[in-house]
Amino acid sequence: MDLWYSENHQDDTKFSIKVNEHIHSEKSEFQQIDFFSSNTFGRFFTLDGFMMVTEKDEFIYHDMIAHVPMAVNPDIKRVLIIGGGDGGTAREILRYPSVERVDMVEIDERVVRLCQKFLPQTACKIDRDRRLTLYFEDGLQFVQDAPNNAYDLILVDSTDPIGPGEGLFTYAFYNNCQRILSDDGILINQHESPYYASYAYEMKRAHSKIKDAFPIAKVYQFHMPTYPSGHWLFGFASKKYDPIKDLKADKWQSFGLKTDYYNTDLHIGAFMLPTYVREELENA
Ligand code: SAM
Repeated sequence: MDLWYSENHQDDTKFSIKVNEHIHSEKSEFQQIDFFSSNTFGRFFTLDGFMMVTEKDEFIYHDMIAHVPMAVNPDIKRVLIIGGGDGGTAREILRYPSVERVDMVEIDERVVRLCQKFLPQTACKIDRDRRLTLYFEDGLQFVQDAPNNAYDLILVDSTDPIGPGEGLFTYAFYNNCQRILSDDGILINQHESPYYASYAYEMKRAHSKIKDAFPIAKVYQFHMPTYPSGHWLFGFASKKYDPIKDLKADKWQSFGLKTDYYNTDLHIGAFMLPTYVREELENA
């Protein structure tokens, strides 16, 4: 039998992967969770029908969320991850021995437990590294309750701004992130995509809010084959650091971390946006 996973990237545009097996399906308190296996992308999982992580391309997303801020401020010690239930972001950030504490706030415990079972490639550090503490809470509430100056880095590894992820794209959330970061703190957030109109709309909305909350608010890009249009963005916001002028390339290279996507040349290139994206962000 021919079994395909299909996701509508627009009303008239679909992305499909031939599936070997629909490994698991359940509805948690928060969302519909499905795991599949395929030849080309290996195992992958979706939330409410949207692609989250595949074994084949997850390294791109997780390299770019974790190593860009660490190469700008290699002294980061206290990290907050919001979302990120698959564990890939925690896995990359915990490769730095200098990181002392990682708090990961994931609203849906089922995502974490199922990824431990079906995606150990990303979930391998969960419950295995004593620096990592898991909180099963809403990230919006967590940042509201956190004290000032509690973190050096916040990584928002969230779903799109529909369903449980909606609150992570609000003024209240970004302002609290600003408040709980140290003076040299950095916020990296999942920043949607510039290409298809509905995603570009969310990209602009997020950027206009972050610009209000932080004096430095930049956007960088990477190629994500399984996300809508394949062109995806993270936001880089800081009270102090410019992601290019303050890049510590030599220091980062001295760590000797092997990465398959990130390198310090690409770090600079990733902030060089196509003209249409730059214009859309300027008008946001
Ligand atoms: N790389 C993925 C992407 O952009 O498609 C994101 C992966 S990660 C699995 C996203 C996680 O954010 C999900 O596990 C979801 O449960 C979690 N999440 C969504 N809303 C949240 C919230 N308000 N607080 C904490 N976690 C949330």
